[in-house]
Amino acid sequence: MSASLRVECVRCGTVEVPVDQARLVAGSESGATRAEFRCPRCGEAGSVDVDERAARLLLAADIPLHAPRIGSDQPR
Ligand SMILES: [Zn+2]
Repeated sequence: MSASLRVECVRCGTVEVPVDQARLVAGSESGATRAEFRCPRCGEAGSVDVDERAARLLLAADIPLHAPRIGSDQPR
């Protein structure tokens, strides 16, 4: 079972991205939560703002969560 995220690709328009090919980025400077994705059709990276309810649904669907630590960028 896998849910998908309906997003707008700048090239293809509306596409559906499986949640395991997207990730949720919380705690940005603006406080907004974003979902980052890679378009399954053209490979273009993109992101959309999601509200709290949508974020909760995505987390319930096991979207990977990426939580950057503000002020401590760790190089890998
Ligand atoms: Zn695309």
